[in-house]
Amino acid sequence: MRRSFKFLLRPTRKQVAALTACLADHQQLYNAALEHRRTAYRKAGVTVRYGEQSAELKHIRADDPGGQGRWSFSSQQATLRRLDKAFAAFFARVKAGRAPGFPRFKGKGWFDTVEWPKDGDGCRWDSQPGHPAATYVRLQGIGQVRVHQHRRVLGTVKTISVKREGRRWYVILSCDDVPAQPLPATGVAVGIDMGVAWLVTTSDGEHVANQRHLAACADRLAAAQRDLSRKQRGSNRRRKAVARVAALHAKVRRQRLDGAHKAALALVGVYDVIVHEALQVANMTSRAAPKPDGEGGWLPNGAAAKSGLNKSILDAGWGVFLTILSHKAGSAGRELIAVNPADTSRTCSRCGHCVAENRVTQAGFRCWACGHTAHADANAAVNILRAGLALRDAARAA
Ligand SMILES: [Zn+2]
Repeated sequence: MRRSFKFLLRPTRKQVAALTACLADHQQLYNAALEHRRTAYRKAGVTVRYGEQSAELKHIRADDPGGQGRWSFSSQQATLRRLDKAFAAFFARVKAGRAPGFPRFKGKGWFDTVEWPKDGDGCRWDSQPGHPAATYVRLQGIGQVRVHQHRRVLGTVKTISVKREGRRWYVILSCDDVPAQPLPATGVAVGIDMGVAWLVTTSDGEHVANQRHLAACADRLAAAQRDLSRKQRGSNRRRKAVARVAALHAKVRRQRLDGAHKAALALVGVYDVIVHEALQVANMTSRAAPKPDGEGGWLPNGAAAKSGLNKSILDAGWGVFLTILSHKAGSAGRELIAVNPADTSRTCSRCGHCVAENRVTQAGFRCWACGHTAHADANAAVNILRAGLALRDAARAA
């Protein structure tokens, strides 16, 4: 199994300067190589290939020993390959008859990752294994950078990347041969309903991973974005507002990931079989629609969905959660089943009666046929579980 591990870096001030220069030079290389390809293509209809650009690297490095020559040859090749991929995608879209935009120059803030394609080549993970207290990664031209390694790395390190997110720096390891770690069977299955007020509600009626902090952060992000829109282009205040928005975006991302990891881990620890709704974009947008109360305000809908931005932030969490859940389930040997979510929220989980009126409020479910009452998400989760188990039985019988 292939898996990646991401750790916060703790660079010294000098190393931050070197990391910044390293990114800037790789960005410059990317843009220069793009310029070369554009000119050749526009003026002569000639396609410049990766091989030619890679061969030129030697001269570029020799001409600029204090600049481009400082960095790893292989990381520079990886940057040229990244451009090559952008062009391959461009030509694929042309071929498909669509009207694609030409690959773009990477401006400030749009080039935040450098990859070293092979551990040991211009970089070394755990470069001071004898150090008693800390982990280090050695990067050519930057030095021994301290890593906040909050968990064990499994498998064999293949590639090492450095990424800038706002003012933080991260190292990302892509590892091969990561062993699966199956958990003991529990004989229990669960259905999960993904919502806005709660990230997940289980068919056992449990709510997992309250997104309160995330919602609060989303509110602040919305405010920061409004603030940004009032600043004048090119002004110093605008630059500061942009940095604030970027930092909040990064914070939202971290909180979302953190919440998703915890929720997925809790589920995988307890259940052998986990049934969830297949994500559909139309479904996602209709689910959390805020209800106007006719007086300019909003009726409570259980959601922190006061603005489109806020809502989209919470929505995006489901995709992240499912991705993480599927990794963890695969690694633990758990079975994950996706079902069509149609009608799961308005069908009675006790008698099967299905009408829209069953859903009395965002949180409340009451069956008009048999009088069954339940938390609406828990009722949906039971339906999801039932649909998943039926799907599984049908697949086994076939
Ligand atoms: Zn009923």
